[in-house]
Amino acid sequence: MLRPDLLLHPTPKGLYCPPGDFYLDPVRGAVDRAVISHGHSDHARGGHGKVLAHPHTLAIMAARYGDSFAKQTQAVEYGEAIEINGVTVWLSPAGHILGSSQIVVEHKGLRMVFTGDYKRRADPTCPGFEPVENTHVFISEATFGLPVFRHPPTDQEIDRLMRSVADNPDRTHCIGAYSLGKAQRVIKHLRLAGHDRPIYIHGSLEKLCEVYEAAGVTLGELRPATLEDRSKAAREAFRGEIVIAPPGAFEGKWAQRFPDPVIGFASGWMSVKQRAKQRGVELPLVISDHADWDELTDTVREVDPQELWITYGREDALVRWAELEGRRAKPLRMVGYEEEMG
Ligand SMILES: [Zn+2]
Repeated sequence: MLRPDLLLHPTPKGLYCPPGDFYLDPVRGAVDRAVISHGHSDHARGGHGKVLAHPHTLAIMAARYGDSFAKQTQAVEYGEAIEINGVTVWLSPAGHILGSSQIVVEHKGLRMVFTGDYKRRADPTCPGFEPVENTHVFISEATFGLPVFRHPPTDQEIDRLMRSVADNPDRTHCIGAYSLGKAQRVIKHLRLAGHDRPIYIHGSLEKLCEVYEAAGVTLGELRPATLEDRSKAAREAFRGEIVIAPPGAFEGKWAQRFPDPVIGFASGWMSVKQRAKQRGVELPLVISDHADWDELTDTVREVDPQELWITYGREDALVRWAELEGRRAKPLRMVGYEEEMG
């Protein structure tokens, strides 16, 4: 069997496949050929030559960077095998955001699986993570790779938000959520929990919500959270309503335009009380699009690879855990992937 590092190895631009001559999620500069796991900007950059990805990821990239984000694109459905210079590539759902994929790379009897970002708990906006059988090398992220990270059930966090809205009918709930994935997921969870009032969204969410709708993820009535009409009546209309915006929007003056705002933030990092405090978050919601410690370790056990490689995040604890389980594991120490998506 081929030696794994001959099929995929880390470079400053991202994971590179020499026989296939392509990169996985190249993060530094443009490359001739890229296979992209999902649409978050720290994985999906514009300007590459050829880009292969799930159709929803390509739609997200087009919404963010314009239709000419790559010279050539190739849409691949989950499970559909493609040959690139004799190397087989296919995608399996990663359960992270719409279109998110594990990238399976196969050559000369060796099967390597690059997870991109992933989580295991149910997300009503995308298909769930599907473990790939007979994986020789499992290349996992480890954003929340410490035993202290154990995310609570999502329904519990959505209930806290619903209760806060019910208990504070005179205040505006301004919820920070990353504009791709987390925002749409929070909206969808609110709908499933019975919140049927219009939800107000920041302008940066509009196109991405449209991509989700076009993919069949219904989000209910969304209205722009703009205050072009600066009258008192226009401001007052936000009392009792929910506004969703990227976290940064609520750090400036933007949120203060809404009457008596309750600042919330939906992120896995909200389990770190100090972070919530630093950001002035009154309602921290621990809702993550990444696997927590139990999800990471359960997934490694389930996939049961011959080798575990860890791309980025808290690599050391996961490597140590794997070694104690008698597994071969190594950190790749890849840089360029941000942690704010949590
Ligand atoms: Zn991501």
